[in-house]
Amino acid sequence: MLTFDFYSPEEEIFHPLYAEKKVRVFVKRDDLIHPYISGNKWRKLKYPLAEAKYNSKENLVTFGGAWSNHLLATACAGAKFGFQTHGFVRGERVDNPVLKLCSLFGMHLTFVDRTSYKDKKDLFEQHFGTDAKAYFIDEGGYSVLAAKGCSELIGELTHPYDHIFCACGTGATAAGLLMGLQQADLTTQLHTIPVLKGGQFIKQAITDLGITLDERFHMHLEYHFGGYAKTKPELIAFVQQFTKGTGILIEPTYTGKMFFALHDLLQKDEIAEGQRLLLVHTGGLTGLLGMLDKF
Ligand SMILES: *Cc1c(COP(=O)(O)O)cnc(C)c1O
Repeated sequence: MLTFDFYSPEEEIFHPLYAEKKVRVFVKRDDLIHPYISGNKWRKLKYPLAEAKYNSKENLVTFGGAWSNHLLATACAGAKFGFQTHGFVRGERVDNPVLKLCSLFGMHLTFVDRTSYKDKKDLFEQHFGTDAKAYFIDEGGYSVLAAKGCSELIGELTHPYDHIFCACGTGATAAGLLMGLQQADLTTQLHTIPVLKGGQFIKQAITDLGITLDERFHMHLEYHFGGYAKTKPELIAFVQQFTKGTGILIEPTYTGKMFFALHDLLQKDEIAEGQRLLLVHTGGLTGLLGMLDKF
């Protein structure tokens, strides 16, 4: 088994709003798992990498945007566990700190135009179709094995929670959390915050991984702030206030939108008094490097 010991405690955080609404809020510090194999990205890679090793694969091939946390996680995990890595990057050739780090970890990068990028299986076939040592990992690490890895978060919890919140990109993390709750037979409610516009697709993405949506599952569609990696001054101000007020660094693309949703739902009295909430800090703080001009 490819693995490493990591530390992801449940840490209680305090804010006047939580006191006013009489809720206790904890953060699952997956952002502390690893600086570059950050947050949910290690959970999603753990089983695919084990499968790749088991099948004697040597080259991890994956996909992402120019600021992708998943590309960086794959580059670093590949280096750590003895794989070559290849990343297809969406859009024209650019240089930025995340891609620099990917290269530093040895990832080979190929830039592809947005139309070709759409068909990932086809890109893989074209470039690696005859390479028996190549292993396909979908964009964002989305897969059945990724969900299985994410489901393990539930078993780590040291307290019961009434609600768990997570940000959604591909939906694999949400799928895994729901699977974990179902397997442990917990009544905890799962609140998902899609960070893309039109987040309804997340439901299909979850069921496509073989997980059945049930009464635990909730989706909050109104917190995308215009779409993936889009921000508004209100969100930037929230990220600043939250970080200053709690000592927990968040970023606008994923965790900022999730915590913003929490605060908005609390203000609207959507969460009952006396409840315990767990927010999954899925990491991804290198994303801030591309948004410094906004702060
Ligand atoms: C990738 C990522 C997500 C999205 O996870 P999915 O499993 O694709 O839904 C959430 N938060 C952060 C910080 C991420 O980097």
